[in-house]
Amino acid sequence: MPRTYESRYAFAVDYLCDKCNEGYMRWGGMTLTTNPPWYPHVCDKCDHQENMRETYPHMEYRSKPLKARRAPEFDSTEPQGEPL
Ligand SMILES: [Zn+2]
Repeated sequence: MPRTYESRYAFAVDYLCDKCNEGYMRWGGMTLTTNPPWYPHVCDKCDHQENMRETYPHMEYRSKPLKARRAPEFDSTEPQGEPL
């Protein structure tokens, strides 16, 4: 099967805490082996716990650009390093 290449837009997907709406949900590395699995997360601000179907943060790739719903703090800084 030949390899194919196509440009994509990459997005960092994060999950705001449902309780405080300020912290971000963080996965501790444990997996509940149900089918489908659950991934326990804890808010990095208020310690709210919630099981999620996906781990956060993670990357997703789309064929079209999307408008960010809420940009993470690090998006406001200039990119660092040498250009390609
Ligand atoms: Zn929270």
